[in-house]
Amino acid sequence: MSSRIPFLSTAIKYIKGVGPVKEKHLKEQLGIRTFEDLLYYFPFRYVDRTHFTPIKSLHTDMPPVLVKGRIRSVQLLGEKRKQRLSVTLCDDAACVELIWFKGVKWIYERLNQQAVYTAFGKPSLFGNKYTISHPELEIYNPENHNNPALRFQAVYHTTEKLKKANVDTKALGRIVAALLPKIQGQIPETLSDAVRQKYGLLPLETALYKIHLPSCEQDIQEARFRLKFEELFFMQLRMLYVRQQRVKAASGVVFAQVGQVFNTFYNDYLPFELTNAQKRVVKEIRRDMGSGYQMNRLLQGDVGSGKTLVALLAMLLAVDNRCQACIMAPTEILAEQHLESVTGLLKDMPVRVDLLTGSTPKKKREQLHADLRSGDLHLLIGTHALIEDEVQFHRLGLVVIDEQHRFGVEQRAKLWRKAVVPPHILVMTATPIPRTLSMSLYGDLDYSVIDELPPGRQPVRTIHKYDKDRLELFAFMRQQIKEGRQIYVVYPLIQESETLDLKDLEDGYDDITRAFPLPQYQVSIVHGKMKAADKAFEMQRFAQGITHIMVATTVIEVGVNVPNASVMIIENAERFGLSQLHQLRGRVGRGAKQSYCILMSAYKLSAEARVRLQTMVDTTDGFKIAEADMKLRGPGDIQGTRQSGIIDFKIADLVEDASLMQTVRKEAQAYLDLPVEEQQSLHKPIAQALQKHLLAHKDWSQIS
Ligand code: ADP
Ligand code: MG
Repeated sequence: MSSRIPFLSTAIKYIKGVGPVKEKHLKEQLGIRTFEDLLYYFPFRYVDRTHFTPIKSLHTDMPPVLVKGRIRSVQLLGEKRKQRLSVTLCDDAACVELIWFKGVKWIYERLNQQAVYTAFGKPSLFGNKYTISHPELEIYNPENHNNPALRFQAVYHTTEKLKKANVDTKALGRIVAALLPKIQGQIPETLSDAVRQKYGLLPLETALYKIHLPSCEQDIQEARFRLKFEELFFMQLRMLYVRQQRVKAASGVVFAQVGQVFNTFYNDYLPFELTNAQKRVVKEIRRDMGSGYQMNRLLQGDVGSGKTLVALLAMLLAVDNRCQACIMAPTEILAEQHLESVTGLLKDMPVRVDLLTGSTPKKKREQLHADLRSGDLHLLIGTHALIEDEVQFHRLGLVVIDEQHRFGVEQRAKLWRKAVVPPHILVMTATPIPRTLSMSLYGDLDYSVIDELPPGRQPVRTIHKYDKDRLELFAFMRQQIKEGRQIYVVYPLIQESETLDLKDLEDGYDDITRAFPLPQYQVSIVHGKMKAADKAFEMQRFAQGITHIMVATTVIEVGVNVPNASVMIIENAERFGLSQLHQLRGRVGRGAKQSYCILMSAYKLSAEARVRLQTMVDTTDGFKIAEADMKLRGPGDIQGTRQSGIIDFKIADLVEDASLMQTVRKEAQAYLDLPVEEQQSLHKPIAQALQKHLLAHKDWSQIS
């Protein structure tokens, strides 16, 4: 081993038993190149080798189990090319069938009918026989099983390719075991004694050893805790550090004064009192924008919580400070609606607002461009069209982005570059995500939440019904229409291209037009395959109250505001995710009357679908729904997070470790609040480790 290469960066080929083939596969399949990669490739489970499950007590709800016995019979079944191997393994009381579909010949030739074997795997039931397919089979060795130090065997994820190259979990375990004796004195500690003592954390080196080779349950717990702490702490520290640097750089436009525009609006034009949550957020925004650093704030608030008004107040502050501001919305309909409500609110105020979308005529567009450059136009509302290069501002001070998850990072960055001094950024999203998740995704951003709805809103009443209740449903719809209300009926469209989905929608439309015939009833249909103009036409008809029922796919998800619509019927509701159901439900409940959301589903439902629908029935709180969603599906599937790759934790878990996350964030902030000398002396290991983490993550952060 070259003395120049630090221990952790040493290539794994220097470990005994790792030849060129294994090296290549480990690199390609698992990204393991160095000692460090290997040490941080954690087992996801352990087998307790002192505990055998009696074969007669097997059942299908069990996690993988370890059984012990002798081989009673061996059979090769099926045709040559599709052979499978069936081995009957029996202990004193019962038998279990072990089955292989792959590697049949190799295993068959090595079986020893005289030996006692252990088999590890998940039992399942076929007919009345318990089977374990592709178990890990091993000749029983009392030494391994009685030696307390070897009691827990780590189980690692591997891939088919790796297994073919003879690197299964056991082989991987052997490679790690060959490295472990060498790590002593080689792993730099990353946490200070003070922090370690405060939380009772193992030294890093010990934790890395024990996570792979524990000798008792407590070892596993302590090692996991230390490593989770490590992972979350440095993630939070890094993000908080980035934020601190941004604040220190003080590179934003200073909105020093609250001027006449803001005050006039606030005192004379505000149609209602702000909710406490709105007041708090406005204060937070004012503080940011007056501070001299560039605001980069995420504003979360459920549908209908009044984010637009908050955004407008922030924009007026910009105007007071001789700056322009813009709102970018994901669709033309939304942009138009923003324009409508903003012009409505501003009424006779001397603030000029205009709209720019893809369909703005050329002539008007040219005028707009000129007015923007001269500064005559104060506020611009629009879609992606705002990003185009011709759009130049006189002095852009604030960018508001609505429905953040619909825009890519690239697009946002383009807006950001439209000013010499970067404008303040306010990103608004109506898709609540759990706090732990937002701390991971947006931990370097300023964060506000409107967690309160304006007074007088009646929560939408949600009911789960089955297909057999359809007549009852139609009667209810007629009643609502008679009372002057309007109704949405939404069909899932999992993939816009799937003709099957479209057929569902068209069949549903036929049913409804039969049950609600002309001329008494007007029914609209809108789906993603329609031309934009036709879509807009139908939406318009519904918005104007001409049509009673809007049959649609999820194109209406982010969209129209029709306060008179009071019923949202979601067909095949079991096929929607929680956040989508919540978004859809947000389309109703915007008026003063009681609104309803009716979830239609098949009678037979998966357990998970049942929980989803029940969650919708139980609560209208978007944050609670987001928490439930994350618990059901894991954080990787929550909207917009998968692509980000930011939450690929090695060991931490956003659901399980939510409170640890809060703790480490506080601890990280406490560290950053210390004078630099103290960081360097008292917490030297942290200071050093932080530098390493910053280098490794140089290219992300910055939402815009
Ligand atoms: P969202 O957060 O979904 O963007 P909006 O800003 O569109 O919500 O507000 C939803 C509705 O609530 C609008 O009609 C708006 O005028 C109204 N609203 C906003 N703030 C208040 C308030 N403080 N009191 C009463 N109504 C409000
Ligand atoms: Mg909105």
